[in-house]
Amino acid sequence: MVEARRNTRQKRVILQSVEQLGCHPTAVQIYSAVRKVLPRTSLSTVYRNLGILVDQGKIKAVKGAGKEIHYDHNIEEHNHIKCSVCGRVCDVNISPVDIDTLNPEQVSNFIVIEIRMNILGICPECAEQLEKEK
Ligand SMILES: [Zn+2]
Ligand SMILES: [Zn+2]
Repeated sequence: MVEARRNTRQKRVILQSVEQLGCHPTAVQIYSAVRKVLPRTSLSTVYRNLGILVDQGKIKAVKGAGKEIHYDHNIEEHNHIKCSVCGRVCDVNISPVDIDTLNPEQVSNFIVIEIRMNILGICPECAEQLEKEK
C-alpha cells in the first residue's frame, strides 16, 4: 500500500518534470529534476516510469537524429528541430505534409507509409555563443 503510493507520487513528479523542463528533456535531465523533489529516486525508476507514461499516452518519446530519447509533454502531432551543437530539441510550428495530398510523381511512384521530418539547426543560445567566439 505504502509502496503503491510512493510509486504514484514518483510518476506524478516525473510527469511534472517533463512539463516544467519544457523543450524535450532527456531521461537524465528528468532524473536530475526529479531528484530535487524525491532524492531517493533511481535512474532506472525514472526510465521505467517514462516508459509507462509513454504507453499511457501522457507523454511522447521523441527520437531525433541522435541516440538519446527526448520526452515531450505535447502529445499533439508536430515536428521538431534539433540543435546540432548542444542537441536540444524544440517544436516546429509548420503544418505536417499530408500523405493523402502527395501525388505519385512527387514520390517516385512509391507508396508512402510514413513521413518523418528531421530538421537540424543551431539554437539561439548556441548561435550567440558561436558569435562571441568569432
Ligand atoms: Zn544549442
Ligand atoms: Zn515537441
